[in-house]
Amino acid sequence: MIFDPLYILVFIATLAITGWAAWRVKSTYARWSKVDSGISMDAFDFARQLLDRQGLQHVRIEPTPGQLTDHYDPRGKILRVSTQVADASALEAVGARGGTRLSVAAAAVIAHEVGHALQHQEKDPMMALRQALVPASQFGGNIAPWLIIAGVIFQVTGLAIVGLFAFGAAVLFTFATLPVEIGASGKALAFVNGLGMTGERQDGARAVLKAAAWTYVAGALTALLTFLYYAYLIFGRRH
Ligand SMILES: [Zn+2]
Repeated sequence: MIFDPLYILVFIATLAITGWAAWRVKSTYARWSKVDSGISMDAFDFARQLLDRQGLQHVRIEPTPGQLTDHYDPRGKILRVSTQVADASALEAVGARGGTRLSVAAAAVIAHEVGHALQHQEKDPMMALRQALVPASQFGGNIAPWLIIAGVIFQVTGLAIVGLFAFGAAVLFTFATLPVEIGASGKALAFVNGLGMTGERQDGARAVLKAAAWTYVAGALTALLTFLYYAYLIFGRRH
């Protein structure tokens, strides 16, 4: 099966889609992390202020290592700011003087995560659905490929179909993620606009958020592609 030309085609397509989305988000982020947002705050103060303005005083803020690892943790009600964003808040690249200035990219990313915290507070139904799918998605993503491969090799179609359903949960999760991410970015744009990030700065924030959204679209597309390949393995090769 490893030498199946169709598998290689699916593999290359997945790599190309994922690679393109990752390149796009990195290059867009790099570009706008050099542009001053005009907000004279560091990443943590900015996150705190945005959260407090939304009545989210109970949400904690923590640093987290890595690049583009910023996220909101609904279980712990913690907003995690990546060290990349936190460091970028010093905006050394543009040589900003007179205190800390936040870059357009950092402001957009933080505002997006505050958007998730607000969705959680508002009990956003898509976010609730997405959270409900987490265990099934993790199980499906890990176990399903093995069930499908074993089912196909040993010709136990029932086992493969169980695997396909389990993988379907993982695919559903990637699609449920899309409206949640787009919704958080919509909130983020409203936040930064309200803070005076208009014109080119607003365009920059939108570009960063759009690039980030494409990574989730890429995730959903590649999951669907893999699902279709599995379905073909099970149902298309009986004869
Ligand atoms: Zn998000």
